[in-house]
Amino acid sequence: MKNWIHRIFKKNRLHQTQNNAPMPMGMPEIPPSRAEAMIKMIEKTQEVELSCDEVHRLLGEFAEMALRGEDAASLLPLVHHHLDTCPDCREEYDALMQILQASPD
Ligand SMILES: [Zn+2]
Repeated sequence: MKNWIHRIFKKNRLHQTQNNAPMPMGMPEIPPSRAEAMIKMIEKTQEVELSCDEVHRLLGEFAEMALRGEDAASLLPLVHHHLDTCPDCREEYDALMQILQASPD
């Protein structure tokens, strides 16, 4: 599961435990069932594309996962997909991997 999904759930739980606190204006509460449906919908429509800027922000995390032997492609599928389709970012990623491999930590 992606980090931002956890964040949605965390936020949701926070609202439920702070019943006494006044609700911030303009922030409708998302019921868990609704959030789940949204996540399923988002996961189904994998056409969501990251921009190069977004990929650059996640590139370090992605490279470190790969170096740790984690399945970075499954954990960050959007980054993986972008690297497959964007030669610029692929080049950036390869360069980053070389740097990280050359100097551990
Ligand atoms: Zn790109």
